[in-house]
Amino acid sequence: MNVAQKSYLKPRSVEEAISFAGKNGSSFRYLAGGTDVMVNKFQGNEEANCLIDISGINELKQVTRDENFLKVGSLVKLDDLKNYPEMENEFPVLLQAAQEVASPMLRKTATIGGNILCENRCVFYNQSEWWREAVGYCLKCDGDICIATGGKKNCFSKFVSDMAPVLIALNSFLEIADAEGEYKVRLEDIYTGNGLKPKELNQTAIIRSILIPVTERYTCVFKKLRPREAVDFTSLTTVVSIDDHGKIKIVLGGVDPKPVVVGGTISSHVEKLIEQAVKKPRIVDNDFYTRLYRKEMISVFLKRSFEELRNILTIK
Ligand SMILES: Cc1cc2nc3c(=O)[nH]c(=O)nc-3n(C[C@H](O)[C@H](O)[C@H](O)COP(=O)(O)OP(=O)(O)OC[C@H]3O[C@@H](n4cnc5c(N)ncnc54)[C@H](O)[C@@H]3O)c2cc1C
Ligand code: SF4
Repeated sequence: MNVAQKSYLKPRSVEEAISFAGKNGSSFRYLAGGTDVMVNKFQGNEEANCLIDISGINELKQVTRDENFLKVGSLVKLDDLKNYPEMENEFPVLLQAAQEVASPMLRKTATIGGNILCENRCVFYNQSEWWREAVGYCLKCDGDICIATGGKKNCFSKFVSDMAPVLIALNSFLEIADAEGEYKVRLEDIYTGNGLKPKELNQTAIIRSILIPVTERYTCVFKKLRPREAVDFTSLTTVVSIDDHGKIKIVLGGVDPKPVVVGGTISSHVEKLIEQAVKKPRIVDNDFYTRLYRKEMISVFLKRSFEELRNILTIK
């Protein structure tokens, strides 16, 4: 069998998936829930001619725990997270974020691994082929100019995963398998900040699981801005976490090609941290809401988040 000619493959194990991937060079895409890949494919934004459907690999559907990590299999569906008592008891913020992704029906198919790797978005890119052709395309799809900025070098498509900012705020890792072996990476290190190629993982890499540290306890506040309470992608996601040692982590999604992280401690001045968080993202006008409005909302959301946290903890 020449797998390179097949357009749809269904491996039964991670090893088999990686071997199929190796034989398809760069022209394949792993398919988990398919809620991101298939939409992009129908819009002509996903060109891979081979889909490797990993949804039947049962070993990626487990949630387990050891003394260091809660280990969430990459194929666990967002809607199923609520079935694990550990989530409700220790990481309610993950459940909140999951419940704010897309819509109830999509969450029954969408996986946590696919969410972390879903493609960046932009109002000028997530359009039909006909629409994009009419405006002459852009840097992210065969054009030579960024429509949002008029620049010829950088793409500022938005990072839109809602789960990743929370997982980064909780200092999570990924357990990866690829053609070269198995290893662990910090989740926040896989994002490049380049809107044209937003993630840096080896070609054949499969996320086995997400490792959430259980040795530290976090208090977190999650907020999301979008036009409607369901279906719409984020225009701004903010997460603020504080650990038991007073370390603060602010993570923003929806305003830069990668998650934006600002760190501090319980003795930092909150206003200064908020100021940094407002300045750091490279927000451009490529969303339903204007750049200035989203910038303003970072400050509003973070002030509210710290206010909520103040009711639980003592912050300067
Ligand atoms: C109408 C609509 C609204 C949406 N709203 C939101 C939203 O509000 N917030 C949000 O975060 N997302 C949203 N999404 C995007 C998407 O539904 C979610 O991000 C979802 O969790 C993606 O998971 P999936 O399993 O369907 O991923 P897929 O589409 O199967 O895959 C997404 C990407 O991840 C890769 N991948 C998947 N699993 C693995 C793995 N284990 N190892 C390596 N690579 C892998 C795929 O190759 C692909 O590149 C929305 C989608 C739609 C259609
Ligand atoms: S930010 Fe610019 S280059 Fe990137 S997708 Fe949007 S219009 Fe295209």
